[in-house]
Parts: sequence; C-alpha cells; structure tokens
Amino acid sequence: MEKQSKEVMIDQTRLSIIQGDITKQVTDAIVNAANPGLMGGGGVDGAIHRGGGPAILEECKQIVAKQGHLPTGKAVITTGGNLRAKHVIHTVGPIWQGGNISEAALLESAYRESLKLAAEHNLTGVSFPSISTGAYGYPVAEASKVAIKAVVSFLRERVTSLKEVVFVLFDPGTYEAYSSALEEVV
Ligand code: ADP
Repeated sequence: MEKQSKEVMIDQTRLSIIQGDITKQVTDAIVNAANPGLMGGGGVDGAIHRGGGPAILEECKQIVAKQGHLPTGKAVITTGGNLRAKHVIHTVGPIWQGGNISEAALLESAYRESLKLAAEHNLTGVSFPSISTGAYGYPVAEASKVAIKAVVSFLRERVTSLKEVVFVLFDPGTYEAYSSALEEVV
C-alpha cells in the first residue's frame, strides 16, 4: 500500500506529515522522544539508538555527565552516528497523567526547544516522531493538535534556517490523528 502524506507551507517552511520510520529519514536532524537519563529505551528511542550505533549513546553519556538528566520539555543535540540524518535532537515529552499537570505546556515546550536548537545550529530540515504518545501515554488526538500548533506558531513567529519540518508517524492511526490536526489547526 502506498504510504500517505500531506503538506502545507508555513511562510518559507514546508510542514509535512508522512507515515513511516523516522530512522530512515534523510535530513539534518531527527528528533528522539527520549527519557531524562538519555540512555536509550523502547519505542522510537530504541530504534534510533539501534540504527545510529554507539556514537549517539557516547555523546548522550557525556551530556548527562556534564549537565545531569534532561528535564521534561528541554532538548539537546548529538551526532546522528550511522543514521542518514546528520544529527539527533533528544527531547523529553511529558508522561500523561490525566491532563492536569501541564502536560500540554510541557509537550509544546519539547517541540519548541527542539526547533530552537535546530535553528541555532542552522539546520534546514528536521523530522519529528509523535512525542509522548507511545509509552508516555498522551492521547494522540490531543497530542497531535499540541504538536502541530507548536510547530506552526514557532515558524510564524520568526524567520529561521528551517525549510522542511516533517512529522514521521509510525502507524496509520497516528497518521490519521495528525492529518485531522493539520486540517483543524492550519
Ligand atoms: P514516548 O515515550 O514519548 O511516548 P514512544 O517511542 O513510546 O515515545 O512512542 C512515540 C511514538 O513513536 C509512537 O507513536 C510510536 O509508535 C512511534 N515510533 C516508534 N518507533 C518509531 C519509528 N521508528 N519511527 C517513527 N515513529 C516511531
């Protein structure tokens, strides 16, 4: 079956959603939905470390040794190791606990801090997975709206090096949620 995709222009940046595997993306940076310890894990985190090899974990260890665990909503950048992406931006999304402990603000921050880091490094392309909607349990109908809104408002607020922002969504249900969010928000 042909994989689906959809795109819009936000000023000078193309924002698209595709169904696929983020570890296969050819771009400046892919974003990892990491844990605060940056030691790898399951889901997309495990796939990125498996695909990228030990160089990524080595840099993550150095970051944690220097600045401690990565707080929720923050982001750091490492090499892409053996991946086709040049860099990995590691961010920590919130664990869903019912929606009353600022999960939306923290999720928005994870996207914004990742984009900020990409722009600071003059990157032109960045790809995101659906942060927090796997093991962290954030309902995808809500998370997708927060994610699209965060990216769109970031791009509308300033001129950056970014030409291409892609959401790479692993399964059809997640793709459908982001597709509806894109229709609703943009
Ligand atoms: P979190 O702990 O932030 O919830 P997970 O990795 O458990 O992160 O899940 C986040 C999303 O990433 C889920 O939609 C999951 O299906 C998806 N995912 C898992 N592997 C990949 C991959 N290789 N490429 C893109 N998305 C992936």
